Amino acid sequence: MIISVIGCGYLGAVHAASMASLGHDVIGIDVDARRVEKLARGEAPFFEPGLDELLTATIATGRLRFSHDMADIAAAQVHFLAVGTPQSESGAADLRYVDAAVAAAIPYLGPGTLLVGKSTVPVGTADRLAALVAPTGAALAWNPEFLREGHAIQDTLSPDRIVYGVADGDGTTVGILDAVYADALARGVSRLVTDLRTAELVKVAANAFLATKISFINAMAEIAEKVDADVVALADAIGRDDRIGRRFLNAGVGFGGGCLPKDIRGFIARSEEVGAGEATAFLREVDRINLRRRDRIVELLAEELGELQGARIAVLGIAFKPESDDVRDSPAIDVIGRLHAAGADVVATDPRAIEAARRAHPELVVEYAATAREAMSDAGAVVLLTEWTEFRELDPVEERAVVRTPLMIDGRNVLDRERWIAAGWRVRALGRGSGAASR
Ligand code: NAD
Repeated sequence: MIISVIGCGYLGAVHAASMASLGHDVIGIDVDARRVEKLARGEAPFFEPGLDELLTATIATGRLRFSHDMADIAAAQVHFLAVGTPQSESGAADLRYVDAAVAAAIPYLGPGTLLVGKSTVPVGTADRLAALVAPTGAALAWNPEFLREGHAIQDTLSPDRIVYGVADGDGTTVGILDAVYADALARGVSRLVTDLRTAELVKVAANAFLATKISFINAMAEIAEKVDADVVALADAIGRDDRIGRRFLNAGVGFGGGCLPKDIRGFIARSEEVGAGEATAFLREVDRINLRRRDRIVELLAEELGELQGARIAVLGIAFKPESDDVRDSPAIDVIGRLHAAGADVVATDPRAIEAARRAHPELVVEYAATAREAMSDAGAVVLLTEWTEFRELDPVEERAVVRTPLMIDGRNVLDRERWIAAGWRVRALGRGSGAASR
């Protein structure tokens, strides 16, 4: 099948390369000419494990091309829409990129073609776009994406489920999408067909649930800190219950990235618009709990050091999660800014995200270090904010020798506390009491 993917960011570039790897002919379109040039050379414009290799391999087959000229979508039958839907000032999703991309694509749509939304949008967007597209004779579907950055290729090729939102009784569209996803369906991946509005809601509801689960355990962490209890043991114990499950119960500095924070805010805004604001009011608290964890890291440091002014603080991790260079709404960016505001000298490192942080946050006053060792040299405290394997595997004995003060704030609860304490470190972590155990 000939496919276009409009918008080649974290979602679209992976989708384009993955579809080409399945044997489809794919043209990826982006308005960012530099991004298109890079992609055409087989270079991902961001870090995603395996993506450079997949781009190079699929471009070599001749089945994957990139262009910034929308006219190049004309030969495609299925057009995936994967442009960004960032947060606007009001908190609602900003649909300007979706609207611009659809307007630019309309001249190239016609009977028998299908426009498939993958971007995360407020419920009702697809109905509005369907009306715009209808005069061309093309159909419109919504096919939300659930990929996780860091595992994006695998999640695209082998998702937990595939959801098609289609207009009432539109069996033709279902058939076309089944042909696109034939490989996954043949391997038994379940596919659910819904109306357009439900498909849009499935995505924001899934993210709202995940965000709630994280904030739930972080709320328990706040209580555990007050009463000298241990949130990690608590998560292990409640997580054994199948109805609860242990995943997404890791207390720490909380969620960030280009999806969860903006999607819950967009969901709140849209719920209010449709007269159901009370139904998602709890998500405001989910958001607040999440942001409080960032304050708590700074508080913990202040508790330990007494004075942040002039303190040299090493921050390990800048990306919002490991195996990614995505710094959008990353807790670490926020914490670095707060530490600087409190007078600290911050030196930060990340295996992949330094360049992205420099580009996206030129305002940050921070020294970047190439390695954890360099960042920790002479540090008065170390804060772990992204759980990269190389940080989890640091040797507390060796690192003890380079820091000025062996104080570790484990913002992700991933270090082997006993080992660090045995090596002479004082360890504080979120949701693990006053740290008495480490005294
Ligand atoms: P992104 O910002 O990385 O990529 C968006 C791309 O669209 C950019 O390359 C931009 O240049 C391009 N673009 C903007 N306007 C365009 C236009 N008119 N024509 C062609 N290209 C245009 O964003 P992303 O993270 O890939 O997210 C895209 C959408 O997918 C969002 O709605 C997001 O919520 C959703 N989503 C993202 C993920 C994820 O893990 N990143 C997962 C699921 C869903």
